[in-house]
Amino acid sequence: MMANLLDLDAAGLAAFFHAHGEKPFRARQVLQWVHQRRESDFARMSDLAKALRVKLAAAAVVQAPEIVGDHTAADGTRKWLLKVDGANAVDAVFIPETGRGTLCVSSQAGCTLDCPFCATGKQGFNRNLSTGEIVGQLWLANRMLGGERPVTNVVLMGMGEPLLNLDHVIPALRLMLDDNAYGLSRRRVTVSTSGVIPGMDRLRDECPVALAVSLHAPNDALRDRLVPVNRKYPMRELLRACARYLERAPRDFITFEYVMLDGVNDADEHAHELAQIATRVSCKFNLIPFNPFPAAGFKRSPPERMRAFAQILQRQGVTVTTRKTRGDGIDAACGQLAGQVTDRTRRANAPRVVELRP
Ligand code: SAH
Ligand code: SF4
Repeated sequence: MMANLLDLDAAGLAAFFHAHGEKPFRARQVLQWVHQRRESDFARMSDLAKALRVKLAAAAVVQAPEIVGDHTAADGTRKWLLKVDGANAVDAVFIPETGRGTLCVSSQAGCTLDCPFCATGKQGFNRNLSTGEIVGQLWLANRMLGGERPVTNVVLMGMGEPLLNLDHVIPALRLMLDDNAYGLSRRRVTVSTSGVIPGMDRLRDECPVALAVSLHAPNDALRDRLVPVNRKYPMRELLRACARYLERAPRDFITFEYVMLDGVNDADEHAHELAQIATRVSCKFNLIPFNPFPAAGFKRSPPERMRAFAQILQRQGVTVTTRKTRGDGIDAACGQLAGQVTDRTRRANAPRVVELRP
C-alpha cells in the first residue's frame, strides 16, 4: 500500500522515515516540500538525495482530493467541490477579506447529527474524511490561489461535525499549526462544534485551538429541537465543558454561534435568556443570518429583528457580532454546503437534498 504523505503529521512522517531506514530530519524537509512549496512530485524535491527521491516515489504519494467544481461569487468567495471517492464529494470555501483569507474546511462527508436548518445534516452521513482529505483542502486552496500565504485562517465549519472525527482532525490540525507545514497560530484555526462534549475535552487535552460552539437556542427545550445532539449533551453540561475548554484555549472566550430563525429563536426573551448564559461562561456571540436551501422549512429573521436582538445582548454587556453572508449565488454560505454525498445512514425521516452540479 502506498502511503499518502498528506495523511501524516510531523510525528507520523518521522515514524514513516524511521520505518524506511531514513534519518528523522528528512521528515522536516519533506514536510516543507509538501506543505510549504506545495510540491507533489518527489523528483522535484531537489535537496533530497536522488536515492531517497526514488525510494519515496516507490512507497508514497502526495494526493489531495480531486477538484470537480470551482465557482467564484461576485464578492470573491470561491467554492470548490472536491471528490473524495467514487460516491462522495465535499465542499471547501475560501473567503477573502482585507488583510486575511479564511478557508472553511469540511471534516465529514455528510453529518450524523441532523440539525433541521442545515443542508449538510439533511442529506445524511456517509463517512469520516481522512487526515489527508482534510488537510488536502488547505493544500489545494493554497495551490489554486497561489502567492505567499493566501490562506491565513482556517475554520472547520464546512460539512460535518469535526469532534466526531478527531482521530483524523487532530493530525490535520497539527499540520496546520506546524511551523514546517502551514505555521498558523492556534488563534487562527477555529473548530466549530454542535456541542459534542467528550470531543471538546479531547481537543482541549490534545490540540487546543480556538473553539466555536453552535448554541442556536437559549434553553434545552428549544435546543433539543434545533440541535438534536443536545438531548445527549444538555446545556448545563455543555457550559461546564466550555469552562473546562477555556483553561487551555488560545483565546479567553468561546464563540457562540447563533443562527437567526424567524419566529423560532429570535424573540426578545430568547436574547434575555442568552444574556444570562453569558454571565456563566466567558463568550462572544456571533449571530448568523439563516441561509436558505431547498425545502429548509425555516426563514431568515428580518434585519431589524436581528438588530433588536443584538441590542438586547449588547445592553447587558455581551459582545455580539453579526456575520455577513458571503458567497451569494454559489450556495457557499454557512449551512448550504451539500457536496455530493451518498447517504448510507438511511435515515427514516430525512429528505435527501443532494444538489448535483455540473
Ligand atoms: N458541525 C459543526 C460545524 C459545521 S456547521 C457545527 O454544527 O458547529 C458550521 C456553522 O453553520 C454552525 O454554526 C451551523 O449551525 C451553521 N449553520 C448550519 N446550517 C445553517 C444555515 N442554513 N444557515 C446559517 N448557518 C447554518
Ligand atoms: Fe452537522 Fe453542524 Fe449541520 Fe448540525 S449544523 S447537521 S452538526 S454540520
